[in-house]
Amino acid sequence: MDNQNIESPVASPTSSVSSISSTASPTSVFLSKEKEYVKNYNKNYYLKNKDAILGHLLQRVNCELCGKEVSFQRLTYHKNTSLCLRKRKNKKPTTTTTTTATTNI
Ligand SMILES: [Zn+2]
Repeated sequence: MDNQNIESPVASPTSSVSSISSTASPTSVFLSKEKEYVKNYNKNYYLKNKDAILGHLLQRVNCELCGKEVSFQRLTYHKNTSLCLRKRKNKKPTTTTTTTATTNI
C-alpha cells in the first residue's frame, strides 16, 4: 500500500500575487496588513502589561515647569492649562537643579 498519489492542496504563493489588481495598490495592502499587525501587537502588549502601563500612567509626578503634582497621563494636558501657566510665573527660576529623590512610603 502506497499513498503517493495523494496530492496535498498546497496553494502556490505566486498565484495570489497576480490577483492584486490596479484598484488596490500593493503598498496599501501591505500598509493595512502592517497596521493590523501593529494594532494586534499593541492590543496584546496592553493586555499583558495592563497593570504596569496603568500604574505608570497613574503615577504621580511633579510638573517640571510649576512643580505641581499631577498624574503622568495628565502631565501633557496640565502643561497647557492656565493653572500651570500661572504657577510658572509665581515660581522663582531656580539656577541650581537639585535632584532629590525622596522615597516616602
Ligand atoms: Zn505645571
